Amino acid sequence: MIALSDDWASLAKSGSASGLTRDEIVGRSIWDFISGKETRYLYEFLFEKVRTRGQAVEFSFRCDSPNCRRFMSLALSPLDQGSLRLAGRTLRLEYRTAVQLLDRAAARPKNFLTICSWCKGIRLSPNRWVEVEVALRELGLFQESLLPSLTHGICTHCESRIETF
Ligand SMILES: [Zn+2]
Repeated sequence: MIALSDDWASLAKSGSASGLTRDEIVGRSIWDFISGKETRYLYEFLFEKVRTRGQAVEFSFRCDSPNCRRFMSLALSPLDQGSLRLAGRTLRLEYRTAVQLLDRAAARPKNFLTICSWCKGIRLSPNRWVEVEVALRELGLFQESLLPSLTHGICTHCESRIETF
C-alpha cells in the first residue's frame, strides 16, 4: 500500500483496523489485511479485472463492528503501472445491541463459525447464510459464555455477485 487518504483514520478508529497507525500500514502488502482464502481469491480476481479492463468497479459490502451494521461500498479504479485506488464509502449505519460474537477481544473455545467477509452473513449450512443475530438465536449461542471463533469465507450470494463484474 502506497498511500492512505486523510479520512482513512476516522474509519479505522471505528472499525477493525483500530489501533493501527498510518505508518504501520503504508509500505505493507494489502494481503496482510485481508483474511480468508476465498476472500483473497475474490479480491485478486477483482483487482485483475480492473487492471486488465482499465475500468472501475464498485460493489457494496459490510464492515460491521459489534454494535453497528456498517453498509459500505468500495470502488476500485485503475491507476498507472498496475496500481489501484480503493475508495470506501459508508452508505449507512444501523446501530444494534452489541454482538459479542463479533468482538475480537472475547474469549473463545476451539470451534469455528464461518462469516462472509463481504456481507457478514454467518454460515449455518453449506448453502444457508444468515445475519449474525439469526445465527446466534438458531445456534442457541446467546446463553453461552464462550463463543466460537470466526473464520472468514465468502457466501454463495456474494460469490454469485462477483460473477456479474
Ligand atoms: Zn456474503
